[in-house]
Order: sequence, then C-alpha cells, then structure tokens
Amino acid sequence: MSISDHIEKLLLAAEIGKPLSRDEIIELLKMPGEYSLDLFATADRVRINDVGNDIFLRGIIEFSNFCERNCLYCGLRKANEKPDRYRMTYEEILATARQIKATGITTVVLQSGEDSHYSVEHICRLVEIIKQDTGLVVTLSIGERSPEDYRAFGQAGANRYLLKHETASPELYQYLRPGCRLDNRISCLKTIKGLGFETGTGNMVGLPGQTYEILADDLLLMKILDADMLGISPFIAHPDTPLAGIENDDIELTLRVIAIARLLTRNTNIPATTALATLHPQGRLQALQAGANVVMPDFTPQQYRNHYDIYPGRADAGSPLEIIAELEKDFQMIGRAIGYSVGNRPTKPNPGILH
Ligand code: SAM
Ligand code: SF4
Repeated sequence: MSISDHIEKLLLAAEIGKPLSRDEIIELLKMPGEYSLDLFATADRVRINDVGNDIFLRGIIEFSNFCERNCLYCGLRKANEKPDRYRMTYEEILATARQIKATGITTVVLQSGEDSHYSVEHICRLVEIIKQDTGLVVTLSIGERSPEDYRAFGQAGANRYLLKHETASPELYQYLRPGCRLDNRISCLKTIKGLGFETGTGNMVGLPGQTYEILADDLLLMKILDADMLGISPFIAHPDTPLAGIENDDIELTLRVIAIARLLTRNTNIPATTALATLHPQGRLQALQAGANVVMPDFTPQQYRNHYDIYPGRADAGSPLEIIAELEKDFQMIGRAIGYSVGNRPTKPNPGILH
C-alpha cells in the first residue's frame, strides 16, 4: 500500500470514530507536509458534525499578573522582575465583565498567575458578584488549588475551570515547572472534573525537549481525562525567561495536534488560541478550519493588558466591540459566524451521517 493510500485509510477510519492508537497518532504528527490538508479537512468535517458551525467566544479578563511560580516558559514567572505587577480591583473586574456581557458574549474567563493574595473567600466573592450582576458563565483559570478550594469555587457559582497539563512528560513537566509535579496537576484535573466543572486542559507545542511521542501522550491524556475544552497552543519564547531565543515559528505542528485532538475527542470545545494568531496572521482562521470551534478574545483593560506579558506580541487590541467586529469579519471570510449560546460541550455527539 502506498503511503498516501495508508494515510487516506487511517483518516477515513478516524473520521468514522475508530480510536487512533499511539503509533497512529505519531504517524499523523510525522507524516509529510503534503498530507496535512487532508488531516485538517477530516477534522473540520468531524467538527461540523459533532459541535456544529458556530464559533463560540469566551471573553478573558487577566485580573492579576502576580505569580508565585517560576515556569521556565512564562514571562509572568516570579523571578522575572521586568513586568509591572498589577491586581485589578473588584470594581474594575466587574466593569470589564459588564462590557463583555454588553457585546453578547455569554462566558467570561477569569485568569491570573498563581497568586495566594486571593484567598478562597476572595475568589468566591468575585465569582458571586459577577454571577449576580451579569449572569455570565464563569470560567476560572487561576492554577493549582486544593480540592476544598475547587469545591468552594463551584459552590460560589463557577461553571468551568481551565488548567492546562502543559506536557504529558513527567520529566519535562518537572524541568519546565520547578517544584511542581505532573501527577499533582493531573490530580487537580480529576478533582475539577469530578466536581462537575466543565474542565479544560491542554498543552504547548514546540517546547524544548518535546518529542512526537510526548505529543501523542498529550493527546491521549486529554482523551483519558475526558476534558471538555482543549487549549492547544504553540510555545512562544519570552526574552526574559530561561527559554529565551528558542525558535518556534512554525504553526503547522500545532494545527496537526488540534486536528488530531478533534478526531480523538469529537465533541469537545477547542479554541483557536491567541498564541496561534500571534505567530501567524492567519493562524486563528487556519485552526478554525482544522478542528477548532472557539475563540478567546482578551478583554483585559488596555492599561493592564501589556503587563500580562506571558509571551511577546500577543494579538487582539482595541475595545471589546472593536475586537468582536474584527473577529466577525474574519469569520465571514471562512463562511462561519459567532454563536451566542453558552456553547457547553454537547452531552452526546450530535446524531449525523458519521455515527
Ligand atoms: N497561572 C495559571 C496556570 O499556569 O495555569 C493560568 C495563567 S497561565 C499564564 C495560562 C497559560 O499560559 C498556561 O497554561 C500556559 O500554557 C500558557 N503560557 C505561558 N507561557 C507561555 C508561552 N511562552 N507560550 C505559550 N503559552 C504560554
Ligand atoms: Fe505562573 Fe501560570 Fe505563568 Fe506558570 S504559566 S509562571 S503558573 S502564570
């Protein structure tokens, strides 16, 4: 069988729902570039069938850039003295959430470094205020906490939690996140999922020391955790971190990981990440045509946005309404539109020709 016949057969089987093995995932990650478009088209068909054509928006507020961790990849790491550190007030956070609501977006993502300044009571109060005032679906992305904290966040009204596993290699994880362990991260994710949160995980693609085998393990971990949202983004080196200067300007591999994630997990919500848009002007649209169905625009107020400096050159500028107008135009170019429902993960795959 020629390689093209073999890949065609593999994609056909994956499209109708045959689970991909680790070796098959590695094959798809490594295959020659000429087959990428077939992979993306297959993932796009599964996306249409299992989550539909709408693109769901999640508005992010990065409410604090203080962080007690020292992740080697991140510009917010504690040891980096360059960023001006800020914490938004409750009033500022609420005002921003109201702006998000005014655009018609139904979900807010509250993200920060790991900042123990915010006690569990602080975060619960913040969630309660936003829920009462705006009725938005609230997603938290504030790192590792205790099971009791996660439970309290849920009781306060938080609906979703994002905690990327970053890399499925325990050794690479420990190297990149000094003092942290992958099994703790996975244990947090299991707790979050068990508490009933819509649970997001994900990885970075292009990390130093990462192999195709590790990427395949990332994908299988996303599947095993039964995560509802998958944030898959390229690693972008920050000049003021120990990983400064590591080149990763090729988004092709990230797009392949997104496409395979769609084939493996079917009805999950998969963002076309801001990091993709940062690396390539068409990165976001390409991801939306390779399996992704969500965009997470940044609505952090202008005076803080530049200080949330995870990696350089982050895309998305302007007022919330300007950002939405720009996205609408982009989506029209690929024949898609914003969906204004809450966009939960469908509980069952939609019935359709592929099932
Ligand atoms: N502190 C929380 C945490 O680590 O889960 C949430 C905030 S953290 C800035 C959000 C995400 O940024 C991380 O999950 C990581 O994947 C991503 N990130 C950090 N540095 C990055 C880089 N240099 N390139 C791409 N993504 C990066
Ligand atoms: Fe802190 Fe998150 Fe950045 Fe790590 S990735 S340094 S935990 S903000």
